[in-house]
Amino acid sequence: MTFDLTPEQDQLRDAVRALGRRYGHGYFVEKAKAGEHTTELWAEAGRLGYLGVNIPTEYGGGGGGITDLAIVCEELAAAGCPLLLLVVSPAIAATVLTRHGTEEQRKRHLPGLADGSQKIVFAITEPDAGSNFHRLGTVARRDGDGWLLNGRKCYISGVDEAGHVLVVARTEDAGTGKLKPALFLVPTDAAGLTRSKLDMEIVSPENQFLLYLDDVRVPADALLGESLDAGLPALFAGLNPERITVAAMGAGTGRYAIERASEYTATRKVWGGRSIGSHQGVSHPLAHAAVQVELARLMIQKAATLYDAGRDLEAGVSGNMAKYAAGEAAALAVDTAVQVLGGAGMTTEYGVATLLGAVRAGRIAPVSREMILNFVAQHVLGQDKSY
Ligand SMILES: Cc1cc2nc3c(=O)[nH]c(=O)nc-3n(C[C@H](O)[C@H](O)[C@H](O)COP(=O)(O)OP(=O)(O)OC[C@H]3O[C@@H](n4cnc5c(N)ncnc54)[C@H](O)[C@@H]3O)c2cc1C
Repeated sequence: MTFDLTPEQDQLRDAVRALGRRYGHGYFVEKAKAGEHTTELWAEAGRLGYLGVNIPTEYGGGGGGITDLAIVCEELAAAGCPLLLLVVSPAIAATVLTRHGTEEQRKRHLPGLADGSQKIVFAITEPDAGSNFHRLGTVARRDGDGWLLNGRKCYISGVDEAGHVLVVARTEDAGTGKLKPALFLVPTDAAGLTRSKLDMEIVSPENQFLLYLDDVRVPADALLGESLDAGLPALFAGLNPERITVAAMGAGTGRYAIERASEYTATRKVWGGRSIGSHQGVSHPLAHAAVQVELARLMIQKAATLYDAGRDLEAGVSGNMAKYAAGEAAALAVDTAVQVLGGAGMTTEYGVATLLGAVRAGRIAPVSREMILNFVAQHVLGQDKSY
């Protein structure tokens, strides 16, 4: 297996880096504090084809893979613009549609996702289910030709920016009486779908919401895929892209923080003519964080390479490990950056403390570090499941 990027991927990395740097962390924070979205950045990334790199060319995308999308996620984050909706819309929603949507659904939604004019967000988490998705309580019942959805979702990102929410519900299988998951493309302005914004301690232009589904009626073709049997594989199809791209975002954020901190410590002088970075009490924590970020990047490349080669099971193990490693490395890098910047670390101007909330959340969402450790313990180490 080689992790070398192709010349096109190298060019993509350089081009996305340049785009991200033109906007930068100042823009990201300004938008967040004004309660606005990164509309201009998203639109430009869409126009340049970066949001659709993993979408097949026949639907307006670049025909690449998750390796390409991970590059986009990492480089924008490394420029100080960690966009969570890249993980939700192009990574999860576009993959699920490409792999399991009907041809009509692909034609209707993928071109808009590819050029950035449309976003589809993803709603699985529920107040009473949390990490235990088997307890999902959102129910879909047949209603004439269509479906009636009822339930509650929480922490759903980007609903205010999206045209549709991909809602994970359960439906009663008439044949067996068993409950099985089904995914529905629900317009965000559907009657009966209401939302309230959650106050989160994260500096981000992207918001999280509680969603209330009260007798939301959707037509038959809102059900993702050709039949109810598409639900379970569709749900699993989104997992690897989600873990790999969120890990890439974490690695990029870690790189950004280390770069900001290194620039500062190399020039700040408070003891005679020596920079504070010459003191190993300052440089070693930074170097340690750099090692952790680089290790995470290696695992991300492995996971993305396996995924793009169609080796989904192996990509599952590597993707989970990459997400764990990058989540921890990003949190370490940002915390270390704040520390070595001293008081400047806590200012908005130096642009590192503004990431504390985001990297802390990255150890919880979209899958918590504990649930990844459960996965590794069970599937890699052969331990019994505790739950
Ligand atoms: C910023 C942000 C954005 C998000 N965006 C979305 C989104 O767009 N769509 C969406 O559907 N969801 C979203 N989420 C929700 C996120 O996926 C969940 O918060 C996450 O899966 C954890 O679920 P929970 O919060 O209910 O925690 P709980 O399940 O209540 O868990 C609480 C704690 O207990 C631990 N725990 C639980 N079970 C076990 C166990 N068996 N073994 C060991 N430890 C365990 C967890 O790891 C966690 O630390 C978002 C969350 C955040 C913070």
